[in-house]
Amino acid sequence: MPSERKTCSTCQKDFLVLEAEQEFLRKKEIPLPVDCPKCRQDKRLAMRNERNLYKRKCDKCGDAMISTYSEESPYVVYCQKCYWEYLG
Ligand SMILES: [Zn+2]
Ligand SMILES: [Zn+2]
Repeated sequence: MPSERKTCSTCQKDFLVLEAEQEFLRKKEIPLPVDCPKCRQDKRLAMRNERNLYKRKCDKCGDAMISTYSEESPYVVYCQKCYWEYLG
C-alpha cells in the first residue's frame, strides 16, 4: 500500500498520507485527512487556542520527539528525519 498523495483543502499544497497512517485510519474507520499535517495542526491549535506539546516517540524509529499530537491521538507521527526519508 503506497502513501497517498492528496491536496490540502486549506493551503492547496500536496501532502502524503503515510502508509502507516492510512492503515491506522482504516482500522478505526476514520476518513483520510483532507488537510496537510501543518494545516491540521494550525486548525487544532486555533480550535484549542493553546499550544500543547507532548513528549512522544516517533512512530517509525522510536526516537523521542516533541509533537503537538499526544501518543493517544489517532495520528501517526514521524520525526522530521523519518518524514523526509519517507518523502525521499
Ligand atoms: Zn495545508
Ligand atoms: Zn523517526
